[in-house]
Amino acid sequence: RPAIVWFRDDLRIADHPALHAALELGQPIVAVYVLDEQSSGVRPLGGAARWWLHQSLRSLAASIEALGARLTLRRGAAGPIIASIAQETHASAVFWNRRYGLAERTLDTAIKSDLRASGVDARSFAGSLLFEPWTIQTGQGGSYSVFTPFWRACTAGAPPRAPHPEPRSISGWEGVLDADSFSSDDLDTWGLEPSSPDWAGGLRAAWAPGEASAHALLDAFLAESLPRYGSDRDQPAQNATSRLSPHLRWGEISPYQVWSATQEAQRGLTGPALASAARFLTEVGWREFAYHVLFNAPDLATRNLRSAFDAFPWPPLDREALTAWQQGRTGFALVDAGMRELWRTGSMHNRVRMVTASFLIKNMLVDWRVGERWFWDTLVDADAASNPFGWQWVAGSGADAAPYFRIFNPDLQAAKFDPHQQYIRENIPEFGTDAYPAPLVDLGETRRAALAAYERVKNPS
Ligand code: FAD
Repeated sequence: RPAIVWFRDDLRIADHPALHAALELGQPIVAVYVLDEQSSGVRPLGGAARWWLHQSLRSLAASIEALGARLTLRRGAAGPIIASIAQETHASAVFWNRRYGLAERTLDTAIKSDLRASGVDARSFAGSLLFEPWTIQTGQGGSYSVFTPFWRACTAGAPPRAPHPEPRSISGWEGVLDADSFSSDDLDTWGLEPSSPDWAGGLRAAWAPGEASAHALLDAFLAESLPRYGSDRDQPAQNATSRLSPHLRWGEISPYQVWSATQEAQRGLTGPALASAARFLTEVGWREFAYHVLFNAPDLATRNLRSAFDAFPWPPLDREALTAWQQGRTGFALVDAGMRELWRTGSMHNRVRMVTASFLIKNMLVDWRVGERWFWDTLVDADAASNPFGWQWVAGSGADAAPYFRIFNPDLQAAKFDPHQQYIRENIPEFGTDAYPAPLVDLGETRRAALAAYERVKNPS
């Protein structure tokens, strides 16, 4: 009887706890991925994420085939699909790595109990986070809303486990499933990739989804950039960050692998270079924190964490202005460079994410949720925890957030973090010519308007 391994946000072979445990059973493996756009509450993927998923599944299917098995692809509500594959194959076990959104958890809990009720050994594993969100608690047994004590609590305990090695082979289940004319070529019929127009050229040029590229990026980052990460990470033109976020989002690499390789690489470093390594691991910690917050506030993408912000008087949405922001035509160079980088490559440097988000929320007075949705649709690393967490952080409505009255000045940010305008010129070919748009807003006036609106949060009527 086979064991089923259900792949979800963990599109890798190495350090995959569910696959590892299934292989230890010594039974043939049925590897399954379900594109679930039907189960209630599961947030539909954005366009850039769908593009990434397509490439990543193709890469995973190839890796599984090279090891001797196959990846079965299905589309529909995951519950009935997993149940029917278990029944058809007479599987004795179904294993998966955990997800942390409420809709996903609810679904997984129901599937687990149904499978167990029919005698199947259904088990979930920790594969995507170093610290399971419910295991990190304050002295009073609650959850954390401030990063520093959260991360202190995480790092005070036992260090993260060592990664599981990559399996040398996977013995695939020999049977044929009812719908098994479906091969990885049929991925094309899922329509995850854009066709007309094909807007993904810039994504293809910028990224190589898949497990092998994730490790190549990590290795290159550790060898070349880790020692200067602390000093250069805020400068978008420096390429000093790892660019691992989409690979972590899709689980092509695990945080355990990142953690352990960084520990290895930092041996022998001293002074600022050693501090850089700690800084990098702390950023990985922010990802953990975003999940901790999401776990405890499942509606993070739609509800202000600080309910006082419900009183914020957002003016009616100016659609034309919103389009100018989305297209990088606000007349503020760092904002426009970021928005264009996002549109072209499906990504944006962290510093610039903060600046573009602050500009939308505080200089354009647009509700952070509108920006969150645009990022969700356009980022290849669009993440159910980190994206709304980042937006609420900038808005001031979130956990351990920047205070609302701290309003980035996009020109000063540009002078500080892109002093030679290298990043700006890379992303705005017409910068400095007449073709470049005039400023969309007056920074001083909009700043005053934002602060006045914020008074309503402090003193709701
Ligand atoms: P590195 O600096 O190399 O950091 C290593 C890893 O740590 C990253 O890959 C990421 O997984 C994690 N990390 C780093 N900074 C953060 C952070 N502030 N919050 C959470 N995790 C972090 N990150 C996403 O992965 N997905 C998102 O959808 C996302 N949306 C964001 C929206 C806004 C408004 C803001 C301000 C930030 C957002 N971030 C998001 C966080 C951060 O911008 C990216 O993780 C980072 O830019 C990725 O680049 P990197 O992999 O080179 O990061």
